[in-house]
Amino acid sequence: MNAPFELGPIRPVDESGSLLIRTTRGCPWNRCEFCVNYKDMAFSMRSLEEIKLDIVAAAKYYGDEPFTTCFLQDGDSFLMKTDDLVAILNLLKQTFPQLKRISSYGRAQSMIRKSSQEMQDICQAGLNKLYCGMESGSDRVLKKVNKGVNAADISTSSRRAKEAGMSISEFIILGLGGQELWEEHALETAKVLNEIDPHFIRVLTIGVKPGSGLLRQMEAGEYTLQTEKNIIEEQRLLVENLNGITSHYANHHSVDLLMELRGQFPQDKANLLAILDRYLSLEEEDRINFTLGKRIGVYHRLDDMESLHLRKQVDAQLLKIRASYSDDQLDELFHHLRAQIV
Ligand code: SF4
Repeated sequence: MNAPFELGPIRPVDESGSLLIRTTRGCPWNRCEFCVNYKDMAFSMRSLEEIKLDIVAAAKYYGDEPFTTCFLQDGDSFLMKTDDLVAILNLLKQTFPQLKRISSYGRAQSMIRKSSQEMQDICQAGLNKLYCGMESGSDRVLKKVNKGVNAADISTSSRRAKEAGMSISEFIILGLGGQELWEEHALETAKVLNEIDPHFIRVLTIGVKPGSGLLRQMEAGEYTLQTEKNIIEEQRLLVENLNGITSHYANHHSVDLLMELRGQFPQDKANLLAILDRYLSLEEEDRINFTLGKRIGVYHRLDDMESLHLRKQVDAQLLKIRASYSDDQLDELFHHLRAQIV
C-alpha cells in the first residue's frame, strides 16, 4: 500500500530506518555538474499545512512504530522560514515523542542566510543533524562543477550549525577535480575540513552519470577521469593533511573502493594511511585483481584477496575481460561499473 503522505526519491544511507517527512520537493539549485538526483523534478516548497497534514497521516499510517530518527526530505529545508521550520519540528516531536534525532540536508547556500540565533532556534526545536554536500574545499573545483557556493561559505555555514549544537556530516567526492585538479582538490578539501572539524566525514567516489554536465565536460576534454589508483593517491593526500580534527571518517558507500577505511580522528589516522598504503603498494596484477573484484562485488575489503576461492572467481572474470579490454582500458571499465551504482 502506498503511504498516504508524500515521499521524496532519496535519503542518506544512514537514514534507512528513519521516518521520512518531505518539506521541499527537489533541489532549488539543481545545477551541480555531477548531480542527477532531482534532474527532472521542478523545485517547490511545500506549504506548512501540507507538511503538517503529512505528519498526522504518517502517525496514523505507522501506528505505534517507535521512530527515534526522522529525516526531512528533499534538498533544502533551510529555504523554509525559520518560524515555519521550527513549527514543523515542534509538531514532529509532539507527534512522535520518541524522536531523538531529526536530520536534513544542509545546503550551504541557504544555511549561510540563517543567523547564529536562527540556527540555535532550529537546533533547539529538534533539527540536530545535518548532511552537508561539501564535495570539495577547492574554489576552482567548486566553480568547475557549478556548485554555486564557495569554500568560505561552506566553512562558515557548517561552523555556525556546529556551534548551534548540530551534528555535522560533511560529504566529499573523491575524483571530483579530475586529473586536472586532483592535488588541489585533496589539499583544499583537507584545509576546509580542518577548519570545520565536522563530527563525520563521509567519502563518495565520483561516478559520472549519463545526462550530467560532468559527462559533457568529459566529452569536451575539460574533465579527465582519474584511475582508481590515482583516486586512492588523492585520498591518501587528503587523509595525510587532515590535522587537528576529531571527526569520524568513513568510506561508507559501495561506490568507494576501500570500505575498510573507517576510523576516528586523530587516533585512527595512522591506520587509515596504512590501509591506503597497502592498496598503493600492491603489485600491479594484484591491484587490478582487487579493483575488479571489488567493482563486481566479489571482494568487500583487501583481506578478501587472501581467500583462494574468491581470488579464483575474480581471476576467471579477469581472463574473460582481457579478451575485450586492454590493461589501459580497464580503468574505463572500473569507472563504468561504479557509475552504475545508484
Ligand atoms: S548536489 Fe545538492 S545542491 Fe547540487 S544539484 Fe544535487 S541536490 Fe542540488
